[in-house]
Amino acid sequence: MKDLKETCFERAVFYSWSCKLDECCKYCYMSTLPREKRTDEKVRSFASLLAETIITKQCGWDYGFLSGGIGVFSDEKLIDLLQKTKLIMGEKVWVNFGVLSRSQLEKFKPFIKGVVGTVEVLDPILHRKICPSKPLEPVERMFETAKELGIPRGMTLIIGLGETLDDHKLLVEFIRKYEVSKIHIYGLNPHKGTAFEGAEPPSVEYQSEWIKRTREAFPDIDIQAGIWLDRTGYVGKLLEAGADSISKFPALKSFGSQEAKEIERQAKLAGRKFRGTLTKLPMTNWDEEVDKLGAETEIGFDEKLKESIKEKIKKYLKKMKTS
Ligand code: SF4
Repeated sequence: MKDLKETCFERAVFYSWSCKLDECCKYCYMSTLPREKRTDEKVRSFASLLAETIITKQCGWDYGFLSGGIGVFSDEKLIDLLQKTKLIMGEKVWVNFGVLSRSQLEKFKPFIKGVVGTVEVLDPILHRKICPSKPLEPVERMFETAKELGIPRGMTLIIGLGETLDDHKLLVEFIRKYEVSKIHIYGLNPHKGTAFEGAEPPSVEYQSEWIKRTREAFPDIDIQAGIWLDRTGYVGKLLEAGADSISKFPALKSFGSQEAKEIERQAKLAGRKFRGTLTKLPMTNWDEEVDKLGAETEIGFDEKLKESIKEKIKKYLKKMKTS
């Protein structure tokens, strides 16, 4: 069993939002939006993304993955973003861009830590019902190719969609088959207007049991327990069950809030040292952090981009201070 002495918050960074599927996943808030609204791509600027990355680094958060729609940025632009992100974080990051082709995997390989596949639910009948336009097979094919190319594989799973603990064996088989080394275990958030509105969210005992069984079966796997603003009270038990870190908390919007304090308190209760902070703004000279970007490297950060990053950081910090 992994010796889990520390924990931290893990931040996923999104560069775009939209959903162009014919039929939405039944749990997703996108399913509540009219088609023209959900297919209208919202794309963030590099300045905004890199500002968030600098804050992530300075707050000591782990970088969960970079995510967004494939085709929103060209592959070359994504590689540029990945290189800039690596420079800030000091390491490559995972990506969750949907299903990538072999040639894309080959292209991205030098710049990524691994690929994340959105699995969500493994029971085939449930999967067809809940994610009708997001079949598992293409993800499995991507994992096969990634395996051949030596690219690590990560996955997302949502519990509370109608599966039972009996289905954990499907997860064990899947992780074994594709040698998955990182898993995000989220609990259903029953959004208003979706097919799950009014459903009971998974209890802390249930989410913990999924994590415990996963940890027991795979002592070295990296497990992120996804929580929402209303589930910070789960943190201690999820960590005791064997989660490495906590994800999905709206850390910028709720920085320093009672909920953020509760996460750090719960980590302590679970006997973990909380690496980084969700409650105290670091004493960083932010402009200096931006000014040094790109120095002595070939990765281009022009002055205009740097000025925009500084502006974005100010905006984010203001939000973090007010919360
Ligand atoms: S969860 Fe499903 S519906 Fe929602 S954005 Fe992703 S693919 Fe689209």
